[in-house]
Formats: sequence, structure tokens, C-alpha cells
Amino acid sequence: MLQKKCMKGLTRNLEALLKKYDFIRYNEPMSNYTAYKTGGSADIVAHVENTGQLISLLKDLRSLNIPAYIFGNCTNILVTDKGIRGAVILTQKLNDIKAEDNIVTCRSGISMAKLAGFAYENSLTGAEAISGIPGSVGGAVYMNAGSYGTQMEDIVISSTYLDEDLNIHTLSLKEHEFGCRRSFYTDKPFIILEAKFSFNKGDKESIKKDMIEYARRRKSSQPLEYASCGSVFKRPLGHFAGKLIEDAGLKGYTVNGASVSTKHAGFIINTGNATSKDILTVMDTVKTVVYNKYGVDLEPEVRIIGEE
Ligand SMILES: Cc1cc2nc3c(=O)[nH]c(=O)nc-3n(C[C@H](O)[C@H](O)[C@H](O)COP(=O)(O)OP(=O)(O)OC[C@H]3O[C@@H](n4cnc5c(N)ncnc54)[C@H](O)[C@@H]3O)c2cc1C
Repeated sequence: MLQKKCMKGLTRNLEALLKKYDFIRYNEPMSNYTAYKTGGSADIVAHVENTGQLISLLKDLRSLNIPAYIFGNCTNILVTDKGIRGAVILTQKLNDIKAEDNIVTCRSGISMAKLAGFAYENSLTGAEAISGIPGSVGGAVYMNAGSYGTQMEDIVISSTYLDEDLNIHTLSLKEHEFGCRRSFYTDKPFIILEAKFSFNKGDKESIKKDMIEYARRRKSSQPLEYASCGSVFKRPLGHFAGKLIEDAGLKGYTVNGASVSTKHAGFIINTGNATSKDILTVMDTVKTVVYNKYGVDLEPEVRIIGEE
């Protein structure tokens, strides 16, 4: 069953892992999981259901020297066509949520939509503007995700994470070092387990009205009918990436199945049969043209992961 494509020399260990954990899949195409619908296979994909399973799996992976990658909804990652050598752990099933007065505590795998829906059910205002971000809470805290004027730094009060030695720590708001689509967690091998949000008591009807209006704005301005990762580049100081790309005449620029969206130039879309390489080629051209025309160095927001 297990083939050579897998990490050399680990076949027997992998078989043992597959026997021990029924939630592990072997040699799984990442295109089944990524918002871009591209990317080669990961050696292992695991949907953990609780922190105990997560810790146990991490211990085993470490003892076998198998690298682990933690993802939420895969809406901000571009996995290379060669895929990921190691184990991808998905948090989507870590999705408990509770409210105490105006404080909402949730596991990192819950989606932003569910967080916003839960806040609405509890007459709490503050999550309306971020309700349409398609990622998980863990991915959002990692990225300091935000939209329509609300970012994670405005509503998070603390988060809890697992370090490399599997010790649990809690970060206060200030310790998150939130910046432009980055946080304390960026490029660190830590796993966000939980986050706490502070909202305000509000009127349910007006919360609902605002959520509908934000969804309408998103639908009218973004190419949601295509696979994408949202805005590909971070907002450069004093500019908007989408405007620079549009002004550079790159709307509609296409390599095979990857195109700069004609609806929103900040998005590179998969029109159906793009590979990750096609998307990367479009990104490279966009970067070069914008730099040559405007001297602005666009920095990717999307995280590129996998074997080159
Ligand atoms: C159509 C569309 C619209 C979008 N609109 C917006 C928008 O308005 N604003 C915005 O900010 N973003 C937007 N995005 C991008 C994306 O949804 C956000 O960046 C989101 O926060 C990513 O969350 P995720 O769970 O999908 O993270 P993933 O893509 O799974 O991972 C992103 C990064 O976070 C890390 N990570 C994820 N979970 C954890 C965890 N539990 N512990 C540690 N690290 C973790 C991963 O390792 C990776 O480096 C959009 C994307 C799409 C497809």
C-alpha cells in the first residue's frame, strides 16, 4: 500500500502510524483541501479532533523525525505542485466555542463565519466585518486577518498555544505583536489552540443587517466564483496592491489556468485547471512589472509551502 514516493526509509513507521490513528490519510492530494484547489500530495494528512490526539500525534511524528505543518482552512496557503514531505495537521475539528458575558472563547479550528454567527446568536457585536473571511480562528490570529476596518488585533484579548516541547502558553493581546498580516506566531513552529475575543453587547437585528451588508460588499467586489486565496499581496505602505496591479495593466494577465482577476486585481484566480506553478509564475510577473513601473516591492500575503 505504501509506496516509495513517501519519505525514504519511513514506510514501516508510517504503516504503524496509520494503524494507530484512524484519522490519518496517506499520500493525500492537497488540492482537495486548499482554497486554490492546487498543490501536490502531502505524505500524511490528519484531521485531529481534540488536543489529546494532537499532542499524541505530534509526539509520534517527532520520534519518527517527520515534520508537521499545521493548517486551518487552507485559505491562505499555496502548496507547491510537488507537495509536502511530512504531515499536515488540520485543525477544523477543534471547534468548541463558548461565551461568558461579552467574552467568547473558542478552539482554533472554528471558522470565522461560525465565530461571527455565534457572536450574533449571543447578541454580541464586533465580529460582523470579519464574518466573510473564509479562514479558521487559528489562521486568522496567525495572519492578523482583517476586513472592512476590523483586524484580529481589535478583537482578540488572548490566545493559547503549544510550543515545540508541547508546553502550553498564553499570550496577552500586546504579546501578539500584531502587524500587517503578521503576528508573534509568524514563522514560528507553534500551534495556536484557542483564542479569546472581547465583543460588546449589541442589537441582534442590526448585527444581522451589518453582516448581510458586508457579505454583499464582498460578493460585489471579489471574484468569489473562482478558487483563490483572496488578496495575494500585502498592502504596501501608502498604496493598495490591487490598484498598483490594475494601473500596471495586469488585470486579466493569464498563465494557463491562473489569471489576475478582472473583478479585483489583488486576486489571482484559478480559472479551472491552474497548477501552483502557474499561480507562482503570475505572481512573479506581477511583482516584477509593479516594481519596474512604480518601484514598489509587493510582498506576498499568501504562504507558499511545500517541496520546490
Ligand atoms: C475568497 C477569499 C477571501 C479572503 N478575504 C480575506 C480578508 O478579507 N482578509 C484577510 O485577512 N484574509 C482574507 N483571506 C485570506 C485567508 O482567509 C486568511 O488569511 C485566513 O486568516 C487564513 O486562515 P486559514 O485557517 O485558512 O489559514 P491557513 O491558510 O490554513 O494557514 C495560514 C497560515 O496560518 C498558519 N496556521 C493556521 N492555523 C494555525 C494554528 N492553529 N496554529 C498555528 N498556525 C496556524 C498556517 O501554518 C499558515 O502559515 C481570504 C481568502 C479567500 C480565499
